[in-house]
Formats: sequence, C-alpha cells, structure tokens
Amino acid sequence: MEKMKRAEIVNAQQPLAVVTRDKVDAPPKGLLLKTSYAGVCHTDVHFLKDEKDLGDGKVRRVRDLIGEEKYKGTVQGHEISGVIEEFGNEAKRYDLSIGDRVAVMPWIGCYQDSCMFCANGENNRCDKNIAGTSDIGQGPPGGFSTHVPVPDCKYVVKVPNQIPMDVACMLPCSASTMFSALKNAKPFMEMAYERAGSSKLLVIGAGGLGLWGIKLAKQYFKNLNVSITSTDIDKEQLRRAVAAGADRSVVMQRKPTPEEVAGILTENRSHLYDAVLDIVGMQSTTEAALHSLQNGGILCIMGQYGGKMSFPIPFVIMKALTIRGIRVSNVKILKELIQFVSENPIKFEEVEYYSLDDINIAYEKLEKGEVKGRAIIKHEK
Ligand SMILES: [Zn+2]
Ligand SMILES: [Zn+2]
Repeated sequence: MEKMKRAEIVNAQQPLAVVTRDKVDAPPKGLLLKTSYAGVCHTDVHFLKDEKDLGDGKVRRVRDLIGEEKYKGTVQGHEISGVIEEFGNEAKRYDLSIGDRVAVMPWIGCYQDSCMFCANGENNRCDKNIAGTSDIGQGPPGGFSTHVPVPDCKYVVKVPNQIPMDVACMLPCSASTMFSALKNAKPFMEMAYERAGSSKLLVIGAGGLGLWGIKLAKQYFKNLNVSITSTDIDKEQLRRAVAAGADRSVVMQRKPTPEEVAGILTENRSHLYDAVLDIVGMQSTTEAALHSLQNGGILCIMGQYGGKMSFPIPFVIMKALTIRGIRVSNVKILKELIQFVSENPIKFEEVEYYSLDDINIAYEKLEKGEVKGRAIIKHEK
C-alpha cells in the first residue's frame, strides 16, 4: 500500500500531529492531487484555536457545532497547488489531464446540485456549510498532506506555466479574497474617478492579504489614477506594503476614538477613501474605516478578528455608505483571477517556506504575527 504523510488536528489549541497513513484513492467524481505547495493562513490558526469572538462575550466553537470527534483528525490547508495524479472512475474531467498543474478552490460549501448557491457556482454563500466545515481543509482533507482528494473536478483550475506553483497556491484564498473585494470596490472607484479624476483606496492590515490586495489593486485600478494607502500597527509590515506598491503608509495608532484614528488616516478629512478593505475586522478598525470613507464609499470587511461594531445609523444614510462582507471567493472568481495574473504578472516574494514536519512552527509564528508575508508548506517533489 502506498503511503501519504499529513498533519492532523489532535484537538483544539494543541500542536498538529504529522503522521503517515495509507494513501487514499481519488473520490469517484473527483481527482487525487499530488500536493506541491500549501499556504498556511490565519483561517487555519483560528480553526485550530477554535474560539471565534462574536461580541457581547459570545464565543463560537466549531467543536460544539460539529462534535469533537469530527473536529479531531481534520487535515487543514485550503491554499493548495499540485499536480493531478489520478481521476475517480465516474469523474467528468472537463479539459483536465493527468499531470496538469492546478490550483484548488477550497470553498466548495455542500457542493450538492440541490443547493441553489452551490449549483450556481456561489459555493462561498452556501448556508449548509456549518462554520465552513464542508470546505476543503476544514472538513474534507486539505493541503497539509502529500495528497489531496478533491471531490469534484470542477473545483480545480489549470495554472498556466508562467505562474509559479508557490504563487498558485496563494491564488484560491488570500489573492482571490482580495480580488473579490476589489471587484466589489471597482464601481465605487470608477465613480470616484469620474467625479474627481482620481480614486483612493485604504487597505487595513499589511500582512499577506494586504500585500496581495495592494499588488492586485495597483494593476486592477491602474486606469483610475488610484492612490493606495496601507495601514498597520507594524512599521516593518508597512515597509513591505510600500515596496509592494502602496503610495502612502500610515502607522495605525490605538487612539481612544475611531474618529481620532480616522482623522490620522485621512489627514483631517483631506484624504477620504472611496473604498476601504479591512483585513483585520475588529471593532476599532471597522469603525475607523467607516469614519474614513468618502460620501458614497464602500467598506469591504474580510478580516474576522471579531467583536461588534457600532456606528451612528444616520451617518450610513447621510454618507450613503455601503458595508460589504467578503466571504472568500468561488471558482468563477478564481478563474478570472488566474487569467488576470497570467496577463498582469505579479511577483510575490514575501514568502517563508516550511517543510510539513515544521508546520507547527509556521502556525506559532503566524499567530504571533512574525511571518514576513505568507507562510507556505513546501512538499517534497
Ligand atoms: Zn486562507
Ligand atoms: Zn451548498
């Protein structure tokens, strides 16, 4: 029996166990992938910590929702690139062949044809997906394994040769989440450009997602005379944000009120933003973001640090604001992104590589905010 090696959850808040198991077969309708790279994401760290702050002292635990037995043994890793090794015997292969380089869309929801969201390719909006546990890497085994069984071939996308496989693994999660936000922000940025001849974007958080957001926005809004501001509490991260293409960087200060923070971000309201991407998603950042928006602007929130926000309702109306939650992305958006990146090459060198054996070190560093850019597991060839 051929073997595979993978990292499994022992229990919440405990180190992962790297174990050897019998290699699985390709799922009947899907395929088996030999993993090349797998990104380690804050979502993985949160899933293993398993305590999401919902505000007012409420905490959500995946263990409580699906049962501890199901939670244990999960193989995480939802940012996956690899090579197709085998197809299932009932698989519809589309244009795919054995040996193809692919990226995996992990956010597959319940992937049942009876689900109106999943059947329509909006798997990221599936409401049968309890705490994300039917997504690859949070239920079905993910990329912290030498092999990944993908339940349906329609959830992998071919990667053109000009995109390196370590970059490819970041596309389905961090990059496509940011791309999804930019697509939402685009009409607002276009309106600003028509009105003022320029557009202004604020990206809160300059870690891996922030850097992707900046690099993509630079290209995606290049015809909109865009000015990109990056803010973070960490000066070192901000230095990388500027190197990635941010036009301005502002050290995020812990001031008593969101209005005061907004005052600094907007230089006393002389630099209001048409769109804000909040990758942190805590009370202080979302509230400061809302106070930093231009009339008619949009706040896209994808960070899930958690908590509750409070903001005067009349302001939402008077300033005609839009608040949009960005829940990752889907295979349509991933295909569009892969096309975009192959036409607009993006270098992403802010990466730390780890072996599967060292995966717990990557988790620890990520949790402490010590990873420079993205942490990626490099599987042996
Ligand atoms: Zn991720
Ligand atoms: Zn569904």
